[in-house]
Amino acid sequence: MANNRTFTMIKPDAFGAGNSGAILKMIEEAGFKIVAMKATKLSPEMAGKFYEVHSERPFYAALCAYMSSGPILPVILEKDNAVEDFRKLIGATNPADAAEGTIRKIFATSIEANAVHGSDSDENAAIEGNFFFSQFERVL
Ligand code: GDP
Repeated sequence: MANNRTFTMIKPDAFGAGNSGAILKMIEEAGFKIVAMKATKLSPEMAGKFYEVHSERPFYAALCAYMSSGPILPVILEKDNAVEDFRKLIGATNPADAAEGTIRKIFATSIEANAVHGSDSDENAAIEGNFFFSQFERVL
C-alpha cells in the first residue's frame, strides 16, 4: 500500500447516527477511491488488538469499550498521497481542535467518539488494512 493507500473506519458513533453515507460522500468527493469496505463489529479483544499501540494510555480501556460498542465500517482507500491527504480531510483527533469543514469537525461528538479513524503512516495503513481484509476482499 505504498503511499497511495490509507485505511479508515467509520466508528460506532458515526455509524450509529446514520452518518456513514454522508461521510463516504465527502471521502469520494475528495478524490479517494474505495478499494475494500464492509460493515462489521469488533469484540473488545479485537479492538484491544487494533489499538495495542495505545495500551499504556489512560483512555485505552474506554477506547476498546467504545470501539466494540456497535457496528463499524472499515474501508481501504486509494489516492495519491493518501495518508497525508486523508488526515487533512478528517481533521484533528479532538473535534474542538479540528479545522472547519473537516469530517471530525462536522460529525465527531467528543475526542473519543470522533467519527472516523485515519492511518498515520503508509506502514500502519498496510497493517490496518490487512487487519480487516484479505486480498480477495479488495476490488483494486
Ligand atoms: P488519531 O490518530 O487522530 O485517531 O488519534 P490517536 O491515535 O492519538 O488516538 C486513537 C483514538 O483514541 C482517537 O481517534 C480517539 O478515538 C481516542 N482518543 C485519543 N485521545 C483520547 C483521549 O484523550 N481520551 C479518550 N477518551 N479517547 C482518546
